[in-house]
Amino acid sequence: MAASAHTTTPMMAQYLGIKEEYPDALLFYRMGDFYELFFDDAVQAASALDIALTKRGKHNGEDIQMCGVPFHAAEGYLLTLIRKGFRVAVGEQLESPAEAKKRGHKSVVKRGVVRLVTPGTLTEDSLLEARRNNFLCAYNEVRSDGAIAWVDISTGEVRVLSCKRSRLSPELARLLPKEVLIADAIERDCAEIVSDIGGALTVLGASSFDSTRGKERLMEAFEVASLDAFGTFNRAELGALGAIIDYLDITQKGNMPLLQRPIREDEGGLVQIDAATRRNLEITTSMNGGRDGTLLQTVDRTVTSAGGRLLERRINAPSRDVTLINDRLDAVAHFLSDPLLRDTVREALRKCPDSERALSRISLDRSGPRDLAAIRNGLQQAEDLFTNLPETGLPSDIDAARTALSGHGELVALLDDALIAEPPLLARDGGFIAEGYDAELDEARKLSNEGRSVIASMQADFAEQTGISSLKIKHNNVLGYFIETTAIHAEKMLSAPWSETFIHRQTTANAVRFTTVELSDLETRILNAGGRALEIEKRVYSSLTTAILETAATVATTSAALAELDVFAALADIASGEGWTRPTVDTSGAFEIEQGRHPVVERSLKAQNAAFVANDCTLTKSENNAAVWLLTGPNMAGKSTFLRQNALIALMAQMGSFVPAARAHIGAVSQLFSRVGASDDLARGRSTFMVEMVETAAILNQADDRALVILDEIGRGTATYDGLSIAWSTLEYLHDQNKCRALFATHYHEMTQLADKMDGVSNATVAVREHDGDVIFLHEVRKGAADRSYGVQVAKLAGLPPMVIARAQAVLEALEKGEREGTAGQKAIVDDLPLFSATPASPAPTKEKANAVEAALAEILPDEMSPKDALDALYQLKALT
Ligand code: ADP
Repeated sequence: MAASAHTTTPMMAQYLGIKEEYPDALLFYRMGDFYELFFDDAVQAASALDIALTKRGKHNGEDIQMCGVPFHAAEGYLLTLIRKGFRVAVGEQLESPAEAKKRGHKSVVKRGVVRLVTPGTLTEDSLLEARRNNFLCAYNEVRSDGAIAWVDISTGEVRVLSCKRSRLSPELARLLPKEVLIADAIERDCAEIVSDIGGALTVLGASSFDSTRGKERLMEAFEVASLDAFGTFNRAELGALGAIIDYLDITQKGNMPLLQRPIREDEGGLVQIDAATRRNLEITTSMNGGRDGTLLQTVDRTVTSAGGRLLERRINAPSRDVTLINDRLDAVAHFLSDPLLRDTVREALRKCPDSERALSRISLDRSGPRDLAAIRNGLQQAEDLFTNLPETGLPSDIDAARTALSGHGELVALLDDALIAEPPLLARDGGFIAEGYDAELDEARKLSNEGRSVIASMQADFAEQTGISSLKIKHNNVLGYFIETTAIHAEKMLSAPWSETFIHRQTTANAVRFTTVELSDLETRILNAGGRALEIEKRVYSSLTTAILETAATVATTSAALAELDVFAALADIASGEGWTRPTVDTSGAFEIEQGRHPVVERSLKAQNAAFVANDCTLTKSENNAAVWLLTGPNMAGKSTFLRQNALIALMAQMGSFVPAARAHIGAVSQLFSRVGASDDLARGRSTFMVEMVETAAILNQADDRALVILDEIGRGTATYDGLSIAWSTLEYLHDQNKCRALFATHYHEMTQLADKMDGVSNATVAVREHDGDVIFLHEVRKGAADRSYGVQVAKLAGLPPMVIARAQAVLEALEKGEREGTAGQKAIVDDLPLFSATPASPAPTKEKANAVEAALAEILPDEMSPKDALDALYQLKALT
């Protein structure tokens, strides 16, 4: 059907009409068993999917580029395209070719886009990560107010939070949305914030964010006459929520997913943690972007996907609400003290499928029989659990979850009667409704099955009558049922008397095929019965989904309760396994950790059969005073580990978990800040030192007196005296102005004097022992200041050539001597030091070589070098000798 130049076939005209509406998406255009892509879409998709690009006809004199994917394998291709940042409009055939023909023999089958697939609006299991939420966010501003709304349409959760622009980045870092909607007016200002967290940015017109329309959209979506029952929302919040509803309408083509009522998050309810701190503490994503080595991965013992998702949300959003925290801790404590109950719950939960996501697919008319089975199995387990949990004596959170588990007896019974035990994935081919559920269905199935056995006996009869024992009745899609004999026997069938019964259909290389009146009658009956059975199954299917959707709200509540129980039981399980204790969390200024451990480092040491050395930390502050520990000690002693473990213990306690410590008393923390000096951030094109200073500035400007701040080697990124002065004044500011609790690790020993001058500052050091010129790390944090850096010894451990170590030792001694005798003396001594004098084993360098080394050395600016640069420089120096 190639078109000649400058003409457009009706099909191409239809294609272009649809494509025009979706300029930003790839159009999957359904043609029979394939989704075809044309023109530039085809070029992009073929390269992204690594599939063949072909041509089909011409448009305006040019070849039409084309590629296609089989519709039954489309999900996999969709996933690849979405991951690569594309959006895909799925254009389906909206009528059968036969229906199109009825309208006129040249009519093109009606097609239309049934769904726009974007990263934030996925529902299929194959497109989603089971244990991670898939959030779609919208950020809106109305004058000086800002608000962020988000939804996970695969679970139906909807939230909104007042959030000024300055809080946008940390909130996005918490939610890690897959897609963020913003109005075109603020695109320029917000695009970088969104791209920093790796989400797709979708820009919408201002009307999508209109608060009046937003309100109407919400009332419509939730079928309420007023939003009052949900709380009061300001204009920024209404606009953000409205944009989400609007976008769902656009992408789901009016098929609104099942949404839970919007919940307004309280701005002051959560511990504020910004993006850099999250990265730094490796809460849910490690420095290299993976999940390995994160706090979440170490803590996660949930047994359901929904539980895994809830735990991730909790760990990302520790609370400041002391009552809420203690309620959660009560629940964990209960499961800890009753291992039998814990095991019962976990055993039942293991059998729970992901009913949250199944429910969302059902509501979007995108479900299959297995989703119905997931609801049935999930609710069944919930009912069982309800009876297994005691009626009295449960802490409030478990009791609330228990109450939400029951009340689905009728629905479970219905699904149980109607569905077979393990239904197929797709409803298309039927075979999922149980026998005995629908009399009409049973009848149709019987007929179609009987037909098959009649065919078997018909074959036997024909074989006997004709005496051709090899005669067979077979079936294919073209001929339907037919009788087949080999060419040798065909002669007999084609002549009297058999030619009257057997009607010739087809001759192939090896066989001749016939039919009979009787056989085609039977075939029609079988087909009709099969078709009817399928129709009935589809009808029953939709009656079942209707029944589920009628109670959708309580089904969702039950799924949420199961997830809740999973998290509590999982936290109890790890607390029991790892010997964690219940923290005391209150509103005091306490921060007392006895024998604290870093959960992730401890786990990795355990894998190597090494023990973690537990350490205490006391940072208790009074109302008007700061509490700061200044931690010194050589590199590799364990300073960073100690800093982070205390931040993590606070975070864990406030998410409602037990903590890796012998005892912990924490006055609830409002904000958590963690920074490491001079981390490379070349991707963003800022100098390392600039990043360090921007991040430090953010802390000093934001930290309130209930913040917990950990600063690791701040000032390291610049020359010694600059660095020291910045570190010094930062610490003073934290102490005098922010008045917060802080741990400050530094290699500037000079700073230890501050402890004498400031009440709230104490010195601590990580102990090492020196043995035969080597250093042994004890990993013990003690009161007091480190005596020296042991840098040379650490360098020796790192495998620097002995010549370099010996030289460094000599330079160090000279410098220290010089310091005692004043800088002039110091310079003279360093000048005097013969270069690499301590190299008895090596041949003495020739004069030229020595000059070359000297020249190279003169070029080196140690203060501006990264450790890697320094190592490279050493190799270059070595090569000159
Ligand atoms: P620093 O910040 O002082 O350079 P790190 O905190 O990076 O040192 O610790 C260096 C290594 O020492 C870690 O990788 C870890 O394996 C080990 N370590 C740190 N703290 C402890 C501890 N308390 N017990 C056992 N090993 C530890």
